[in-house]
Amino acid sequence: MDKAFYISVILPLKLEWEPCYSLPSGTDACKVGIGDRVKVPFAGKVYSGVVSRTGVKPETEPSKIKSIISVEDGLEPVIPEELELWRQVAGYYLCTIGEVYKAAYPTGKINLEESRAAAVEKARRGREKLMESMRGKVARIEERLKKKLETADNAKEGTRTRIRSMEEAARIEKELAAAQEALVKAEAAYSKEIASSCRTSGQAGKGIPSIDIRLSATQERAYASIRDGFKDGKPVMLNGVTGSGKTEIYMKLAQEALSEGRNVLYLVPEIALSRQLEERLRAHFGDRLMTYHSGETAASRRDTAETIRSYKTSGDSYIVLGTRSSLFLPHHSLGLIIVDEEHDSSYKQDSPAPRYNGRDTALMLSVIQKCSIILGSATPSLEELYNCRYGKHRLVELRDRYHGSLESDIEIIDTKAERRKRGMQGSFSRKLIDHIQATLRKGGQVMILRSRRSWAPALQCEGCGEIPKCPHCNVSLSLHKSTQGGMMTCHYCDYRAVYTGGCGKCGEALKSLGAGTQRIEEEAAALFPEARIARLDSDTAQSKSFETRTIREFSKGEIDILIGTQMLSKGFDFCNLRLVAVISADALLGMQDFRADEKALQLLEQFRGRSGRRGEKGLFVIQTSQPEHPIYQRLKNNEASDFSDSLLLERETFNFPPYSRIIEICVKDRYSDRAERMAGRLGDMLRKRFGDALSGPYTPAVDKIADEYLRAIRISLKKDRWLVSGKNDILEIVQRFEKESRYPGHITLNVDPS
Ligand code: ADP
Ligand code: ZN
Repeated sequence: MDKAFYISVILPLKLEWEPCYSLPSGTDACKVGIGDRVKVPFAGKVYSGVVSRTGVKPETEPSKIKSIISVEDGLEPVIPEELELWRQVAGYYLCTIGEVYKAAYPTGKINLEESRAAAVEKARRGREKLMESMRGKVARIEERLKKKLETADNAKEGTRTRIRSMEEAARIEKELAAAQEALVKAEAAYSKEIASSCRTSGQAGKGIPSIDIRLSATQERAYASIRDGFKDGKPVMLNGVTGSGKTEIYMKLAQEALSEGRNVLYLVPEIALSRQLEERLRAHFGDRLMTYHSGETAASRRDTAETIRSYKTSGDSYIVLGTRSSLFLPHHSLGLIIVDEEHDSSYKQDSPAPRYNGRDTALMLSVIQKCSIILGSATPSLEELYNCRYGKHRLVELRDRYHGSLESDIEIIDTKAERRKRGMQGSFSRKLIDHIQATLRKGGQVMILRSRRSWAPALQCEGCGEIPKCPHCNVSLSLHKSTQGGMMTCHYCDYRAVYTGGCGKCGEALKSLGAGTQRIEEEAAALFPEARIARLDSDTAQSKSFETRTIREFSKGEIDILIGTQMLSKGFDFCNLRLVAVISADALLGMQDFRADEKALQLLEQFRGRSGRRGEKGLFVIQTSQPEHPIYQRLKNNEASDFSDSLLLERETFNFPPYSRIIEICVKDRYSDRAERMAGRLGDMLRKRFGDALSGPYTPAVDKIADEYLRAIRISLKKDRWLVSGKNDILEIVQRFEKESRYPGHITLNVDPS
């Protein structure tokens, strides 16, 4: 009797353990290794899992252990570097490794992988059958030939039987030769086919790109300093103003990694906004460049993953431009990771688990891959400034713009004062209108920013004061106008109701509260009838082609005024953009969050960086009702770095991140009272352990989303040697609470909430 062989398997589920399975009797244990994909039964369903350990000693009664269904021959094994990253992410973000596996290998991707493997298998079987029948045919002819020759041998020389048999044998010999030739040909074709199916479709552009990147003297100094940082094995933070040539430096570093035969991962917060960057990289790196993000089809993402795998054997090198999910590709021999716009909060995944931050996960990956990593931004996050201040990362600065160093002028317009003087026309102040007209007259382009999309962010009844709300979320509905009338939509759950213009309660007319991008566009069209105007926000950018076209038209000068949301703060480069205006900066400052000032400053700095490129002085206009806010003085006096210093000091005093780590525990329940009760009980349990470090339970600003009521608890942990055990205690207490009160599935943990 052979001894049973046990393995543990990672399933794409929120499971705290990795279940144990045996192999079907007769399976060669040596054939199953860590990382292999296996089909297993679990709780009445079948899953595609990943072998995490082999030769394990089962903790349960061996007779109760189920056998795997099969080893998934066609699916590529997960490599050790991937598994290591999954473990670290799960450990850091307090989720299960299965949840990370699920994010790395979404079902769609696995299904495609499976169907491809199945198709290959089917074709193989078909071929084999055909070949078998051909072999059978050859054998049968051989048999016939043998018999004929025997008959001939047995007959006497010269007899008719003998002559006829010999003639027939000659004919059969010909037939045999033809059959054998066909078989040889088929076998050759088949083995060629197998060889090529092992390679994938990806074609690497061979050779090193020929275009030379020439750095300016300042860039060269920064570059040398970056290399020094890499030599010390430190992550480098490149703080460079917009237009200083950070991208140029990344490209040079990437090119070097590639020429050493190592691979490059270039991370961006959102791919939609990186079209210009993609074109620039494509021009330089050609076919070596691959993009990867959640907007791509599962098939295209699988192809990228397979191409990357195939490069391991072919020795070609690649550069992937992608969003955070590209961290989970089967990377091998990475030489460099670039984290562009590292401060951007889009790097953080809020839901579902793993609630990871792409920037911080990139740092983990760089350690696993033993590769260099560079983070870049014009407005570094406080986290990064902290890392540089305490010597964990190396700070490299680029203060000059490549095409000349003229900072744009800033003008703050007090909308309250303007309103009193009747200087406002809708959302535009008279002063802003004048600036826009002057810019257009000179042939310059204008960008207008408004942080709320829609026509009106909220509505209110003129009669009874009712504000239409989403039936599923505790938020007001926004009005989106269309040629057919309009829709009231919820920006949280996408609920939609037809807009009638009347109040659902009393029937009186609804008036709009505030103006969103759509309305600003309408106002601008009326104010500047000659101008060509376009809008870019997540409503219009639904279609990729529209967005690409808009950006392209704007950069070619075919659009005069571009109106949009935060989207426009990202790395576009428009050389004729002379005026950037923020319609209302109040919306940026009003947030009840300790990060509000940091984010507002970053956003305003980013907007400002858009205007006046290519040696031309631009103008940055901010409309606000709080002109006295310190943020504007800082901005005007170019004291952004002082401001960051004072923010850091504030964070230190109040023990906020980056001086501490926040873990947010959120209770979600269909019943408001149960959410309240459970959050209260969980809070008590956690408070026993964490005392004053805990705040809450509190009701978040939006306390109901998609029919679930929310209560939150925050625990802030010091960054000392008890940090890890503190985090694990939270996890342990939450799991115990879920079990004891039979309350699974309602609690989420978020490490470093944004
Ligand atoms: P950043 O990424 O810091 O915003 P970019 O790399 O996009 O800056 O540079 C801004 C502009 O200056 C781009 O149009 C770029 O082509 C140009 N530029 C910067 N450095 C160089 C260089 N060394 N040689 C040629 N052009 C450069
Ligand atoms: Zn809703």
